[in-house]
Amino acid sequence: MAAGITASQNGASVTVLEQNDILGKKILSTGNGRCNLTNLNMKTDDYRGDDLEFIQEFLKDFGASDALDFFSSVGIFTKCRGDYVYPLSDQASAVRDALAMELHRLEANVRINCYVEEIRKGKKGFLIFCAGEQSPCRADKVILAAGSKASQVPGSNGSGYVLAERFGHTLSPVVPSLVQLISQKKCFKKLSGIRITAQVSLYVDGKLTARDTGELQLTDYGVSGIPVFQVSRYAAKALDKKQKAAAAIDFIPHLDTAELTGELLRRRSLWKKRTAAELLNTIFPSKLIPVLLSEAGLDKQAWAEKISENQIRKLSEVCKCFTVPVSDTKPFSRAQVCAGGVRTDEVCPHTMESKLVKGLYITGELLDVDGICGGYNLHFAWGSGIKAGKHAAGKK
Ligand SMILES: Cc1cc2nc3c(=O)[nH]c(=O)nc-3n(C[C@H](O)[C@H](O)[C@H](O)COP(=O)(O)OP(=O)(O)OC[C@H]3O[C@@H](n4cnc5c(N)ncnc54)[C@H](O)[C@@H]3O)c2cc1C
Repeated sequence: MAAGITASQNGASVTVLEQNDILGKKILSTGNGRCNLTNLNMKTDDYRGDDLEFIQEFLKDFGASDALDFFSSVGIFTKCRGDYVYPLSDQASAVRDALAMELHRLEANVRINCYVEEIRKGKKGFLIFCAGEQSPCRADKVILAAGSKASQVPGSNGSGYVLAERFGHTLSPVVPSLVQLISQKKCFKKLSGIRITAQVSLYVDGKLTARDTGELQLTDYGVSGIPVFQVSRYAAKALDKKQKAAAAIDFIPHLDTAELTGELLRRRSLWKKRTAAELLNTIFPSKLIPVLLSEAGLDKQAWAEKISENQIRKLSEVCKCFTVPVSDTKPFSRAQVCAGGVRTDEVCPHTMESKLVKGLYITGELLDVDGICGGYNLHFAWGSGIKAGKHAAGKK
């Protein structure tokens, strides 16, 4: 949509081919229905992919202020929560509608329920074959903005990867990202429903690879919540390469191990006639306490005075570093984005034009660029669309 608007604004005659019955269906489910459009603090570090130089170059000519200018030009008023930017109305549907109305105003030819099966490069431009249609559409330039295969939104089937590969483009392996992690550790059935502020560290083959702090959700299959989403792409990539992935959960990140040990020792000497479980009362949710004690090898009914200093130290370590082997991620349908995609060294970061096929542009999540939560993925989608639209219409 951003590509179509920009190409139209720059004088091109635009046709948008969309397989769903409306444009921009995925936008409706973004940001819990509020659409986190972009982020004021836009840094290369907030993106991942095999080629961070591409992202660095990309951001040089499409930062947060460029995104805000675009929203303002199409009538989207915005507001901020910290650095996160949302539409003033807090309605993702308003963003989708504003973009659709702008395409309409610019008289772009929008064709819905139109599934692109194949695109061929002819002597003069491209031939685009849509399902159930006798003759192909013709175009001088093509912008592939087909997204990834993440989410349950209809149309997220990864068909764009196939279209790009037919032009000789290659893919970095595509895995789910911003997704829940599954563990076979037995305790999760007992922990389901707990929400707690925690730090999640992701280890790949024993090496610390990513870390995030926020509201962790414990579920019957494993772990979820923002800090898990933020590290999930590294777990998915590791499992795809048959490496070992494990999350270490710090259930009390604002105290270091020595401080927690000190507090537990203080409680032990104050409350000799309390049980081990009662020592942890008010520090952790009640459902979590027996699991922490069992992991530390302690009986929850043991009297405080009977617990040795070494056992207290072990308990602190467990609370600060609760190891969760990761056996899998939830599937693509549960992921917000994909990690991996069309290799970015095959695309120009300033125009999004393919380096393999002149006149072909590749944008958005189809590319091997994924951002953390916070508006980065939509920012990249709008920005790459705008750059492609401008260049395809002949503007430098
Ligand atoms: C639940 C959820 C919440 C999210 N929240 C946020 C958020 O708040 N902020 C943020 O930055 N990001 C968020 N994201 C990620 C963001 O939505 C995506 O990164 C972004 O939409 C990608 O844009 P895109 O244009 O590349 O692909 P898409 O938005 O997926 O658009 C691709 C379009 O191409 C169409 N299409 C695909 N193949 C074909 C074909 N063969 N023929 C015709 N049409 C085709 C699809 O139907 C689709 O409409 C969220 C994602 C999900 C799933």
